[in-house]
Amino acid sequence: MKESAAERRWNPEDYHIARRNMVDRQIKGRGLADPRLLEAMRRVPRHFFVDEAQAVQSYSDTPLPIGRGQTISQPYIVALMIEALELAPTDRVLEIGFGSGYQTALLADLAGEVFAVERLEPLFRKGRDNLARLGQGNIHLKLDDGTGGWPEMAPFDAVIVAAGGPRVPRPLLEQLGPGGRLVIPVGPTTALQKLTLITKAGPGRPADRRTLGDCRFVALVGRWGHRE
Ligand code: SAH
Repeated sequence: MKESAAERRWNPEDYHIARRNMVDRQIKGRGLADPRLLEAMRRVPRHFFVDEAQAVQSYSDTPLPIGRGQTISQPYIVALMIEALELAPTDRVLEIGFGSGYQTALLADLAGEVFAVERLEPLFRKGRDNLARLGQGNIHLKLDDGTGGWPEMAPFDAVIVAAGGPRVPRPLLEQLGPGGRLVIPVGPTTALQKLTLITKAGPGRPADRRTLGDCRFVALVGRWGHRE
């Protein structure tokens, strides 16, 4: 009898191979070369961050639904955004919209401390449980509208926003330290967004704003984002 995709189960070695192929084809193959990032992506088990029925698709070149109309971002987009942050092992990072927690786990692998905010409670809980399985000790989670940032924990060396808003929320810029990097999808609608990288002036770094490309993220909803 032929098994359906949902019934098929992989063993740990299958996931390992799928993950290596994902990094080689989707990430390295498209020109991202930061060795620390590639190593982190080979390490973090993306299949921990989707529902069990989708585990065999978790290394595919696509976003996947995680509930409440939200998605776990495509691996390449996650890599592109993280590479743009130029993370050092001691950096403090603010992440808005942690959803499944996959990107959070990668950030925690590459930086010093990660402060991650999610506004939808069911996803907050699920993401928190997903991350608990990995046992990384440098992750701090908050259930809140992340467009206001996390002022008590500022300044941050890097800020990453995984949902698209009409503009860059001012609190996020204010909470970025000198020389800090902020990456966020910006556009009038979710269909028309530019992945934007902002660098704050700091020692040896001029202020800069540039576009990394077109993108399509779910809506950043909140005080400094889209209306509900
Ligand atoms: N990085 C996540 C992306 C999830 S999709 C992953 O790969 O799994 C984007 C997430 O942003 C959703 O979970 C959504 O609920 C969240 N979000 C949208 N607006 C937000 C806001 N103002 N504050 C915090 N989270 C927000």
